[in-house]
Formats: sequence, C-alpha cells, structure tokens
Amino acid sequence: MSETPDDKKNLRRKAELDPRFASYRGVWVFVEHERGSVHPVSWELMGEGRKLADKLGVPLAGVVFGPPGPSSRSFCQEAFAYGADLCYLIEDPLLGDYRNQPFTKGLTDLVNTYQPEILLLGATTLGRDLAGSVATTLQTGLTADCTELGIDLENRSLAATRPTFGGSLLCTILTLRHRPQMATVRPRVMKMPPKIPGRTGPIIEHPLGMIETQIVTKILDYLPDDRTGKPQLAFADFIVAGGRGMKRPENFQLIWDLATVLGAEVGASRPVVQAGWVDLERQIGQSGKTVRPKLYIAAGISGAVQHRVGMEGADVIVAINIDENAPIFDFATFGIVGNAMTILPALTEAFRHHLHPESLVA
Ligand code: FAD
Repeated sequence: MSETPDDKKNLRRKAELDPRFASYRGVWVFVEHERGSVHPVSWELMGEGRKLADKLGVPLAGVVFGPPGPSSRSFCQEAFAYGADLCYLIEDPLLGDYRNQPFTKGLTDLVNTYQPEILLLGATTLGRDLAGSVATTLQTGLTADCTELGIDLENRSLAATRPTFGGSLLCTILTLRHRPQMATVRPRVMKMPPKIPGRTGPIIEHPLGMIETQIVTKILDYLPDDRTGKPQLAFADFIVAGGRGMKRPENFQLIWDLATVLGAEVGASRPVVQAGWVDLERQIGQSGKTVRPKLYIAAGISGAVQHRVGMEGADVIVAINIDENAPIFDFATFGIVGNAMTILPALTEAFRHHLHPESLVA
C-alpha cells in the first residue's frame, strides 16, 4: 500500500510533540547503588549523558535516592566528579533497600516536577524493573538495552539504537510525542568517563511523600549474591574466547591454557555454551555478557552481530580464524588467518616465555 500525501501529513501530525511536554529540558541519569557503592553503569551513563546534554545545550543531572545519611550526599559528589551539573536527591528511610513502589513514586514525582527530556538508567535487575514501571506510570516510551545513544538534531530527540529482529538488525528508536524519553543501557556497553575530583554542583532535595503502610512489599532479609568463584567477565582486562570453530570440547582446553598464561577470563560464543562446553556465565554477546577488556582474543568465532555487540568495545581484538573472509576480520584490530588448533598453543608458548599481554595493548 502506498502512502498518500494525506497519510504523510497525518504521520507528521502524530509525531509532533504534545504541547504539554514542550517545557521538558535536561538529561538525567539515575544513580544506582547498593550497600554503599554505586553501580559502575551509572557512571558509564553519566559519560554518555554528558555528551547528549552538551549536544542539546542543557544541564546533566544525577538522581540519587537513599536513606538519610552521608552516603547519598557522597554519591551526589561522585556524580559531579563524573560530569553531572546538578543532582536531585530524595532521602527517606523507605529508600534503603530497593523496592519498586517507593522508587517508582520518587522518580515519577521528580520527573513530573522538574521535567527532564531524557532519563537514562542502567539495564541492571534494578534498572530494568524501575525503568519499566516509571515509563508505564508516565505513559512514555522506553528503549531497553541500547547499544548507542545520540541526538536527532532535527527534532531534538534521543536516537536510541538497539538490536532488533533477534539481533540481525540494529534499529534506532525515537520517542517523538512523549517526554521524558527513556532508555536503559547494559553495563560495560559505554566507556567509563574520566573522574574529575573537586567538581561540584547544587543538590536539589525533594520529599518522597510516602509511608511504610502504603508499600505492599516488605524486606525480611538481605542475602548478598555470592559471586565468589564465578567468572567476572564484565570487568576482566583480558579475555580469551572460543567459538564453534574449536570443533570439539577437548580442543577448548587450548582456550583455557592461553587464558591461564595471560591471567585472562574465558569467554565463548553461544553455540559453545549451547553445546555445554562452558557454562552460560561465559557467553558473550546479545543474550550473554557485554565485555570491555583491554584485550579480546577470539578463536574460531565468526563475528556474527549477536556476538559482536557484546565485545566490540574491547580496546584490542585479536581474531584467529581459518576463513580469511570471516566477518570478525572486518572489526578485529589484528587478524590471524589459520587453524586455531595450532595457533593457540603457539601463542600460549610465546606468552609463557617471551610476551606480556600488555605488549599487544600498549
Ligand atoms: P560459527 O558462526 O559457526 O563460526 C565458527 C567460525 O570458526 C567460522 O568463522 C569458521 O571459519 C571458524 N573456524 C572453523 N574451523 C576453524 C579452525 N580450525 N580454526 C580457526 N577458525 C575456525 N551468539 C553469541 O555468540 N552470543 C550471543 O549472545 C548470541 N545471542 C543470540 C541471540 C539471538 C536472538 C540469536 C538469533 C542468535 C544469537 N547468537 C549469539 C548466535 C549468533 O547468531 C551466531 O550463530 C554465533 O555467534 C556463531 O557462533 P560462532 O562464531 O562460534 O560459530
């Protein structure tokens, strides 16, 4: 069916910003913290938020919730050091451990009062839960798990890019009619910005206006997620990853050998995880972890987009593949065309005796 000029006019009219939202200005980053420390994704988003705010010529704000005490204020100071111009702070005993109801009320009230045009949250367990309920309450658009954020200068809209159709395409989503424009981004997708100690700004305090009996969930106990012994891929400096090109589970030992010599974590593509050669914690990509190491060595991995989105933030990518036309060579820093079964042991020996991984990333 072809579009008539009237259809086009209607589409444009539909896409016009509702006049109620004309006054919305500024970029906000929700500062997520737990048990005294801020989740690094908040500062990664602060770096991204700074770029968006500068493009729009508006202030960048951090949003901090917490119980009364010195911690919340120190998180505001940290937010300034990572680029925030101001902070909105809600201190209330009900904001100790995360519960959806008080956090949603606090954030929606703040948005309705101070009217930001963009609101960013980490795509963490907390961030996903909060972003969904805030967007639903405010009846605005939310683009989840973005891999890139920009500004469409024609209409000052947030251009939020994310994988779609099972990751085979990247689509850019604009929220044209509603404000704020909301997006979540997974940890390690964006770069950590530099910290500038001593940078400061105003803190705007706001009340929560809620009492315990209005909240249906009660916190009975806190059981920390014990990560001891579990792979920490998201924060590893060096990763050696293997794919289906390793052919057999026994061959995957070559990946472990090189990783041991480098002091690296082991990663894998999805087929390797699905075959049960390594556990799910080690899958890298769209449905696995996003990593940002200094060095990523990929052996027998073709470089499909669903894998690429999880590792292309690495400073240096070394790809080992038998096929010189493998897509991974399009974005690898160094490519080695050859059989991983002979190249991996040679690299292991070289690093064991002569080389240091930093020599590749210097
Ligand atoms: P292949 O694509 O089969 O590539 C194997 C490579 O090994 C080839 O390039 C081949 O040339 C090379 N090779 C063969 N023999 C040798 C040798 N002897 N030495 C060196 N190289 C050799 N994939 C992920 O990795 N992570 C995800 O999170 C993920 N999420 C997905 C989500 C969805 C919704 C979908 C639809 C797919 C997802 N995938 C994911 C799968 C993805 O599309 C690819 O199928 C997958 O990444 C391919 O893995 P691979 O590169 O190991 O295998």
